[in-house]
Amino acid sequence: QTSGSGSTGTDDSDRTIAGPGRVDSQDSTVSDGENADPRCTRQNSVTSVSQWDIPYDELVHGEVLGKGRFGIVYSGNWHGHVAIKELRMDYVNDEKTLEAFKAEVSTFRKTRHENLVLFMGACMKPPRLAIVTSLCKGHTLYTHIHENKDKFNMSKTIMIAQQISQGMGYLHARGIVHKDLKTKNIFLESGKVVITDFGLFNVTRLCHDSRRGDWLCIPPGWLCYLSPEVMRNLRVVQRQDDALPFTTYSDVYCFGTVWYELLCGEWPHKGLPPEAIIWQVGRGMKPSLANLQASRDVKDILMACWSYRPKERPEFSQMQSNLNRLPKKRLQRSPSHPIHLSRSAES
Ligand code: ADP
Ligand code: MG
Repeated sequence: QTSGSGSTGTDDSDRTIAGPGRVDSQDSTVSDGENADPRCTRQNSVTSVSQWDIPYDELVHGEVLGKGRFGIVYSGNWHGHVAIKELRMDYVNDEKTLEAFKAEVSTFRKTRHENLVLFMGACMKPPRLAIVTSLCKGHTLYTHIHENKDKFNMSKTIMIAQQISQGMGYLHARGIVHKDLKTKNIFLESGKVVITDFGLFNVTRLCHDSRRGDWLCIPPGWLCYLSPEVMRNLRVVQRQDDALPFTTYSDVYCFGTVWYELLCGEWPHKGLPPEAIIWQVGRGMKPSLANLQASRDVKDILMACWSYRPKERPEFSQMQSNLNRLPKKRLQRSPSHPIHLSRSAES
């Protein structure tokens, strides 16, 4: 069943991409113009974007942590250990990208939650655009699950899922859509979940838009996080004006995939070629649960998060009570719960 409105509105996703006017209007409570004494502005808790501006020269770069869609991530030092996320400037040379970047920064600074990475500031003067956050210790869930093949018991699995729900519930309550919730963006620091990279997707998209090419560039492991309505909006050439319709609902779909990875230790749609995944998900087919030995309640959460209709997916506040009700002992087999249920299309 592919009919339906597909895109369920971009209200939420648009909230993370505000133009400069919106940033200014939100921040106009106290003026901290160029000439203001920085000591005074800080004491007056001025919240303008410029207050979060870090002079690039103050950053001490350490080792490269990795390269992602956004650019290069370094460990570094700025009043302590930090992560420095540098935007790839070879693709950023226009005003629009700069404004998108500043809007993302304005999103970041609104966040204070123990399960979200700490935003410390940003370098916002081209050609140096970078976001500075706390440095996450420990591994990402991706590394735990897919590289180290760590197995979490049910109690730990639920605890991780609950913390993700808490962080995500907070983001949504602040009107922020993550847009890229995946195990690579979730760190586990001595038992504590830290979510990174919320709201950055538009910047990466803009970066890629500047490149020429007529193929669909799909980062490995990305497709299984795309909800049906997002999947149906993939275009061979993704242009700036067809933004993918990420919403709080599509974030919940992503959570479903993370929940699956935690439970199964592998990706959904394992072994399927990208074309088949796009076709199947777009038509409302859910991944097979053949490898998932779990109780009905556990599977129900998965199926609800992967609902074809966005509004049928639970909110994160609801998710927390659903997770709370799960037995924490161990994965339970339930022969009464037939595997082919998972193959059902739109439910
Ligand atoms: P991706 O999320 O697709 O892995 P990123 O550009 O976000 O790509 O990250 C590149 C690398 O930097 C990854 O190895 C990631 O784990 C690491 N990294 C990103 N942010 C942080 C952070 N705040 N602390 C520590 N490492 C980080
Ligand atoms: Mg990341």
